[in-house]
This record gives sequence, structure tokens and C-alpha cells, in this order.
Amino acid sequence: MRDVVLPGSTVGILGGGQLGRMVAIAGRRMGYRFVTLDPTPDSPAGQVSDRQIVAAYSDLDAARELAACSDVITYEFENVDARVAALLEQESYVPQGSRLLHTTQHRVREKQALQASGAEVAPYVPVRSRFDLEAAIRTLGCPCVLKTSNGGYDGKGQWIIRDKEDVDKIWPEAKEAVASHEQDADEPLVAEKFVAFSKELSVIVARSVRGEVQSFPVAENIHRGHILHLSILPARIPQDTARRAQRLAEQVAERLQVVGLLAVEMFLTPEGRLYVNELAPRPHNSGHYTDDACTVSQFEQHLRAVCNLPLAHAKLTTPVVMVNVLGEHMAPLLQAMAHMDARIKVHLYGKHEAKSKRKMGHLNVLGPLEEALAAVRELGVWPPESLSVSE
Ligand code: AMP
Repeated sequence: MRDVVLPGSTVGILGGGQLGRMVAIAGRRMGYRFVTLDPTPDSPAGQVSDRQIVAAYSDLDAARELAACSDVITYEFENVDARVAALLEQESYVPQGSRLLHTTQHRVREKQALQASGAEVAPYVPVRSRFDLEAAIRTLGCPCVLKTSNGGYDGKGQWIIRDKEDVDKIWPEAKEAVASHEQDADEPLVAEKFVAFSKELSVIVARSVRGEVQSFPVAENIHRGHILHLSILPARIPQDTARRAQRLAEQVAERLQVVGLLAVEMFLTPEGRLYVNELAPRPHNSGHYTDDACTVSQFEQHLRAVCNLPLAHAKLTTPVVMVNVLGEHMAPLLQAMAHMDARIKVHLYGKHEAKSKRKMGHLNVLGPLEEALAAVRELGVWPPESLSVSE
């Protein structure tokens, strides 16, 4: 068995955003030291690390410096430059490896890997041309969804096609998005059947260097404007569906030989089928509830997995609703804090600019769903209709 990486060691984090910040907060409590690499000085993770290297993610010299001062390296985003990943693996210890990054960086590769792991994905067709797209629409039917194969997030690089006439408008936009991003020349886009889901779910699963696997409880996720708005725990689904979702995530993590965390996003259909939509090989926004409502947080579990410590059994300790705080919510939220119910746990990421739609923090609101939502409504920060969640 490979040795464990003990507290006192230095963990290098590629990426200085909120995910790195929360990993560092969990790790400092355990006695690890942290170095972050990020281009923005005083980044969210840099603020809680021993040191930040201020440089572009693709800067090879900076990556070499990170390697030189870290005992183990992890990343907090998946679009890691392949040359940087190779250098870090050569010059330091990256237990997560780079194979999974390569898979999840491209939607078509990711879907193929999922299918090979025995997971169902929505029917899809790789698209290289307008001709391919028209053929895909005939195969999949409408509505369907066109997505860039890499680089898309929070609804960017994504178009719903409701009718074949939409192609005239959407194709030029998609081509432009492909041109402005370095897309894989082979299969720059993918068309997917639109899944009429009843719920969006996610399961975060950890697999350690020694091969231990533990999944977190299933989160029910509600998006607004393509950005995660609420995660509801426990998810309002039958118990056997929750068990199936957890087993599916564990199976994918085993088959892909994941080390660290893997977030598995799924669609649940009214007939009870689970389609995997997307994977993220890192801590995930839908797992932020674990900090306050679980026997172990996703951030500690991630460190345990990459440092080869025994994994904790992840169990929900209380019902909870996680609410994302975006730039436009910051000012009213700060105003509301003077009178805020203490069951609302506030997490803010220390970002300097509260731009609209930018993720600035989140709230973990402890307690049964209706009570938690009522407490959030009281704050007057979110439009009340966004806090009424029908089954
Ligand atoms: P993604 O970038 O793939 O995570 O998609 C963002 C969001 O778009 C998902 O969380 C869904 O709400 C919606 N979406 C994406 N793909 C589909 C699909 N094939 N069918 C229905 N909704 C989808």
C-alpha cells in the first residue's frame, strides 16, 4: 500500500477558487499546509493557504514551483492544461492522475466512459457540422440540446433546439462558441436528447488511493438560469431510488478507478430511470451542504482520499437546504445578517467583486425543508417564487 500523506505535509492546489478554499479550510484543521496556484492575487483559496503562487494555470514555470514545494497535489477545476498535468505528475505526486481529467474534459469521451461503466446516458450524437446537426435532430427528435464538448459551464455553450427551424439561429452561435474556445477539432459539439426529468440529482463519491469507496447522500438540485440554486437533502425520492443512485455513483467511481472525489450529476425520469448527465472529478457545489449537515464534509473526504487516509462513513446528520449566493444577492444578504436566524450557516468565499451571477458564497440552512425555506424567505434576498419548490 502506498504510504499515507500525513498532516504536516504540504498540499498544492491548482486553482484558487472557492472549492480550493474549502479544501484548505478542512485541511488546515487537520494540520496540513497549503500552497495555491492562481492568477488572481488574494484568491479565495490563497487567502486561507500558507502561500499563493500568482501565475496563469498554464504557466509551466509556476507549475514547476508548485511541484517543488508540495508533497501532494490536487486540483479544484477540471480544465487543467494537459502539459501542466504531465509536468506535475512527473515532478510531484498527483494521486488523482490525469486520465480522468482527460475523460471529463470532453463530453463525448465522458459519455463513452460512462456507458463503458454501465451507466445510462441520454441518447446523443457527436456533431462536427451543420449537416451532422440536422441529421442528429432527425435521429433524436425535438426538443434536443446542443452542447460544446468542452469548456461549457453554468449553461454557457448550450442551446435547446425546440424545432428544426431553430438551427438557422443556433448554428452560427454554436460555431462562434467553438471558435472562441479551443475545442477538440474532432467532435466539437454534441447533440443530446432532451430528458423530461422529474428531478435532478447528484451523488458525490470518494475513492481513496487504497481503493476504499464511500458515497455521500443524494442531493436534489434545483437550477435557476442554468446555475445551481438549491440543493435539498434528503432528496424527495423513494429510498430505493436513492440507494440505486448511490450505487450507480460508486460503480462509476470504481470502474473509472477514480482517486479523490467524483460528482455524478443525474436526471431521474418519472419512470424511475437514472441518466447520468455529467461528471466532475472534484468537490462539487451540490456537496456544500456536507460542511454543516453530514458526518464528514466533502472537502475533508477529498483530502482523506488523496492522502490515503481511511475514508469516513458519510451520513446526513440533519435535513438541510443549500442556497447559492450570487453577486446580486451579496448586498441584501449582508444587510440581513444582523437579524439572521442562527440555523442559517453562512459561507462566503472572500471574492473581491460581486459580479452578477458570480458564485460568492452559499447558505446551509438546517432543518426540515419547509422551515428552512421559510427562514430563507424571511431574509428577503431571493424572490419568494424561487423558494417554493413543488414535489
Ligand atoms: P450541463 O452543463 O450538462 O450540466 O447542463 C446544465 C443543465 O441544463 C442541467 O442541469 C439541466 O438542467 C439542463 N440540461 C442539460 N442537458 C439536458 C438534457 N439532455 N435534457 C434536459 N435538460 C438538460
